[in-house]
Amino acid sequence: MSQPLQYQQRLNDGRNVWLHGEIITDIATHPDFRGTINTIDSLLQLQTKQATKASLMYQTDEGKSAHLSYLIPRSKEDLAKKRQAYQLWADETFGVMSRLSEYSRSLITGWYANRSAYASTHPEFVKKIEHYYRQSRDFDLLSTAAGHDPQIDRSKQHRSDNSTILHVAKKTEQGVFVKGAKMIATAAPYVDELLIFSYHRRSEKEKAFANVFVVPTNAKGLQIVCRESFAKQDITDHPISSQFDEMDAVLVFDNVFIPWERVLVYEDPDLAWKLRTDRASALLSQHQTVVRLVSKLESLVAIGDELAETAGVTAFLHVKEKLAELIIQLESIKALLYASEQKAAFHNGVLLPDQDSLATARNLGTRFYPRALEIIQQVGAGGLLQSPSQTAELNGPIGSLLKKYYKGTHTSAKERTALMKLTWDLVGSSLASRHELYERFYSGDPVRTYAVQYNTYQRKQQLIDFANLALNKGEK
Ligand SMILES: Cc1cc2nc3c(=O)[nH]c(=O)nc-3n(C[C@H](O)[C@H](O)[C@H](O)COP(=O)(O)OP(=O)(O)OC[C@H]3O[C@@H](n4cnc5c(N)ncnc54)[C@H](O)[C@@H]3O)c2cc1C
Repeated sequence: MSQPLQYQQRLNDGRNVWLHGEIITDIATHPDFRGTINTIDSLLQLQTKQATKASLMYQTDEGKSAHLSYLIPRSKEDLAKKRQAYQLWADETFGVMSRLSEYSRSLITGWYANRSAYASTHPEFVKKIEHYYRQSRDFDLLSTAAGHDPQIDRSKQHRSDNSTILHVAKKTEQGVFVKGAKMIATAAPYVDELLIFSYHRRSEKEKAFANVFVVPTNAKGLQIVCRESFAKQDITDHPISSQFDEMDAVLVFDNVFIPWERVLVYEDPDLAWKLRTDRASALLSQHQTVVRLVSKLESLVAIGDELAETAGVTAFLHVKEKLAELIIQLESIKALLYASEQKAAFHNGVLLPDQDSLATARNLGTRFYPRALEIIQQVGAGGLLQSPSQTAELNGPIGSLLKKYYKGTHTSAKERTALMKLTWDLVGSSLASRHELYERFYSGDPVRTYAVQYNTYQRKQQLIDFANLALNKGEK
């Protein structure tokens, strides 16, 4: 593979990105995509700027510069460095861009870091992940991951003859041809590569669906079908939607060829599940998601506070209670993030953040975020819509009237309008609703992720046996 082109040039590679019934031929200049592309480009540029380079990059053993998401942590300082790198990008984007590739890169890094666990049973996988990790890291490839089958009929999900589920249609000496679909691949139109895996455990009967592979976004036969775009053009009136709509897509594989070196798992339910639940891969990627959640909650705390100030409602007891609840959310997740690093433990020579802390943070996030949006609505109330359709109206024919009625306690009409536009974009716009759904579901169905936390919590080791303690005391 030769050195890839600059980010924006790479996008024009013949990928089939479908929006409104058409393939978008030049997504870098398309109004529904260019704002987000410019954002990603500017984040990538931070990797070479003097002031930010050291916070985002590290030197590999081969002397190359690589993003810190690829660093294999061997110390608490390494974990802190990774956190700071994730935080830098997350803070630049109010925590709303979740798939800036650190997540999927962490999955790949985890598999690579933990490869010794697979050496004796799956040497082929080890060779492939070593090659792919280096390629992804050294070429700074952007990627996203998709693991879910299309919804269609969940009651028939596990039928082994279900042809809608992604499977190998043909096997050749060079590789496999795959057919089927995956949902949802956030950020798919913007990245170089897609990491495809099976989220659910497959039985031996369903081995046809137990595949893991990496595919370039422009693979022949791959259709990237976008949802409606929530992107807006005007940064003043839509500061979030104009810059940070990551896009969600369904991936339809219509006989897509995957060469063997990129097929990490072929029809092997046991290995597919081992990778899906691999400790290093899971914990490194979850660490990133919690860092991002902190940024997102922090932006809501700061905005909620400013909303209350500008409306002169901070003295009301219930408003203080609600703003405190936002602070409690933020500080709880932050504490869990730091706890995950403090309680980090070695696993096959890799220092991994603590599972219970990260699982608690992620599961709480599914309930905290919708509640945070509710609080902002309760505090902002009708004021959230007390803003003109366009900020420019403040300078129009009735501008002087608007300036009188649209100001806040300590803010001009222009400043207050900017705050309301920002808040609405975060809590009331189409993109805001998408984010509520995202936080509820991005890491899996919360009903089942809570159950997983119950199943995996080491109750015997973590808990004092109070039940028997009482029994023993009673018997004495
Ligand atoms: C905005 C957004 C972005 C996303 N981005 C990505 C991404 O980039 N990559 C990725 O891999 N995934 C992504 N996801 C997918 C996400 O992981 C899934 O949505 C999530 O795992 C839930 O699965 P589902 O949507 O198929 O819901 P379903 O599994 O279809 O569930 C629907 C309802 O039925 C219930 N249900 C269904 N089956 C069962 C069962 N067996 N037991 C108990 N209850 C059941 C659920 O509790 C739920 O209430 C994204 C999701 C959203 C909303």
